[in-house]
Amino acid sequence: MKRDDNCIFCRIANGEIPSRTVYEDEEFRVILDLGPATRGHALVLPKEHYADLFEIPEELAAKAMVVGKKTAAQMKAALCADGFNLVQNNGACAGQTVSHFHLHLIPRYESDGQKIGWNPSEPSPEELDETLKQILG
Ligand code: AMP
Ligand code: ZN
Repeated sequence: MKRDDNCIFCRIANGEIPSRTVYEDEEFRVILDLGPATRGHALVLPKEHYADLFEIPEELAAKAMVVGKKTAAQMKAALCADGFNLVQNNGACAGQTVSHFHLHLIPRYESDGQKIGWNPSEPSPEELDETLKQILG
C-alpha cells in the first residue's frame, strides 16, 4: 500500500482524519470539499498515495472515473444539480495544491455564479499544425 505519512489526503482517505464521506469502498473515499466551489463539491480520493495523474496506475485512474461517474449521478439527483464539472489538477501551475491525486466533482446550478474554465485563445492554423507536430513527434 503506497502512502505518505505527511500527506493529509492519505490520512483522510484511510479514515485517520474524519471527513464528510459521501462514498467509500476498498480503494476510494469520496469526501465533501471543505472549500467548495458550489454546494456538494466533493473529491474522489484513492486510498493509495499517488501524487498526480502521471503517477497513478492506469487501472486505478480508470476506477476513479467510474467512482466519479456513479457518485456524480447520485449527487446530481439528490442535490437537484443542473450540471456537473469533473476537474482534475496536476502541478502547481495547473492549480494543484494537494499532491495526492484527486478528482473534483462539482455540481453546477443554473444560478451558482461560479466560474470554472479558461480564456480561449485564437491560434492560427499554422500554430495548431505546429502544436500537433510537436505532440506527435
Ligand atoms: P487542488 O487545488 O486540485 O489540489 O484541490 C485541493 C482541494 O482540497 C481544494 O478544493 C481544497 O478546498 C480541498 N481541501 C484541502 N484540504 C481539505 C480537507 N482537509 N478536507 C477537505 N477538503 C480539503
Ligand atoms: Zn497521499
